Parts: sequence; C-alpha cells; structure tokens
Amino acid sequence: MTLAAHHLVAGTTAVLVSLWLLRGRWTHCHPRAALVLWQISSLTLVVSLVGALLSFGLEPYGRGLLPALVDLPWRFRELDVWHLGAVALGLAVGGWVLVNQLLCLRSTARARARHRLLLQLVARQDTGALVVDHPVAVAYCLPGRTPHIVVSAGARQLLTDEELDAVLAHERAHARERHHLVVAPFQALRRLLPGSALLTRVCSTIELLVEMCADDRAVHSRGREPLASALERFRANGNGAGTPAGAMPVADAPVQARIQRLRAPEGQRLPLAWPLACLIAAGALVTSVSLFAVPL
Ligand SMILES: [Zn+2]
Repeated sequence: MTLAAHHLVAGTTAVLVSLWLLRGRWTHCHPRAALVLWQISSLTLVVSLVGALLSFGLEPYGRGLLPALVDLPWRFRELDVWHLGAVALGLAVGGWVLVNQLLCLRSTARARARHRLLLQLVARQDTGALVVDHPVAVAYCLPGRTPHIVVSAGARQLLTDEELDAVLAHERAHARERHHLVVAPFQALRRLLPGSALLTRVCSTIELLVEMCADDRAVHSRGREPLASALERFRANGNGAGTPAGAMPVADAPVQARIQRLRAPEGQRLPLAWPLACLIAAGALVTSVSLFAVPL
C-alpha cells in the first residue's frame, strides 16, 4: 500500500499544480514558464495514476512494480478480484494512453504528408514562405522534419508588408521551437476523451500558451502592433478558417486574448512560487517514475 500511497500523493500534487495553472493570470505573461509546468504536471498525473493502480493491484506479491509485472502471467491466480481488477485497469489506462498517442501521431503525420504533397502541386515559393493562390486569408506552419510556412494570396492581400512580416515571424517561431510536439500529447488526450470539458479546457489553454510563445518571438523581431493588427484582420475574416488538419494557424481562437496581450501587456512578474512549483512537480514525477523500478 505504501507504493500506491506515494503515487497518490504525486498525483494529487500534479492536480494541485494544474489547478494553480488553470486559475493563474500570470500564465499569459509567462507562457513558456507555464508550459514547462503543464508538461511536468500532466506527465506526473498519467504516470502516478497508472502507478497507483498497479501498485495496489500487485501489492500482495510484496515486490516492486516491474518484478511483480514480470511475475504476473504466472501468478495472477494469487490475486483476488479487487487486486486483479486494479492491475487490469492500470494496464488498460497505460496502454490506452500510449496507443492513443501513437495513433494520433500517425494520423497527424499522414495528414501533414498529404498536405505537403498538395503544396508541391499548388504552392510557389515567395518571400520566405509557400504561397497558395486562394482568396481565403490563412497563414500557418506545417510542422515536420522540414517545416513549411504557408500563406494564401488572400492573406497577402489582406495584410500590409509589416503585418505579413510579423505573421511569418510568428509561424517561423512555431517551426523553430517545434510547438507541434508540445501540443500533440494534449490533443491526443482530448481525442481520447472528447466529452471531457476539463480536458478540452486544458488543451485550449495549452494551445493558447503556445500561440503566445510564438507571438513573443515575433514581437521580439517585429514589434507588437504589426502582429496585433494582423490578428485583428484575421479575426474579422473568420480566424483562418480553412487551415488544414495538423497545421498551426496564426489566428486560431481565442485570438482576442492575444490581441489584448500584445496591445496592453500586463508586465506581471513570474510568481515566486513558480520555481517551487517546478521543483515539487518534478520531484513528484521523479518519485512516480522511480517507484516503478524500486525492487521492494
Ligand atoms: Zn500560431
């Protein structure tokens, strides 16, 4: 029971950190710092949930998790229905999450590959981006080993040169910082439980923070106003509707929070509790992961 209790404490810590992140206004001022904490606490939550179920289920063996799992196929008759149920649930949740992540990665990679082929046929290289002759105003980054920045003819007509530069800088930031890898695990979890309002909210929060990170990069080289006015024009034109699956658009909802942040930055300091929260969340993650390898 001690191992399961440790996992439960780690999981509870991750939940508390996640709630703090969901409620904190500071996250919009420091999206990068918030994303680090989101990644650590989410991973802790999944590992500790699976760990707690397996630890409880395999507790009668009196061994560590990994050796007990190795013994399971030969000794499962020694477990009563509650312990066997907990093991089955732990393995199902762990396997379900892992398989779902792999399937989502594969389907997204396929969608991106199809779109890359399409771009080879219809797009032309110009001003550091691929230009598609389409009247709908869109701009997006198609991530991958060789990422592509794509803008439509409609977007080039809609934006001034300064605004277009800012938009391209935003998309390059997505490509350079591999933001698709940050959002992918959360999007896969959302697809796993599409009816969960909490997961939808968490996923939207992560996507918004990633957009803010890219905004910050663009602001660094192009200033605040060109990107803010570009986002406003995109919003008036339907928020980049028509962006393909697997791409990262410049103006996804909710764009208003980003415009406000660009035009009236709050300048809030990183909370003093952030390094402490990082330390606690990382400690919880390391504890949960290492408990799998503890021999007793
Ligand atoms: Zn973006």
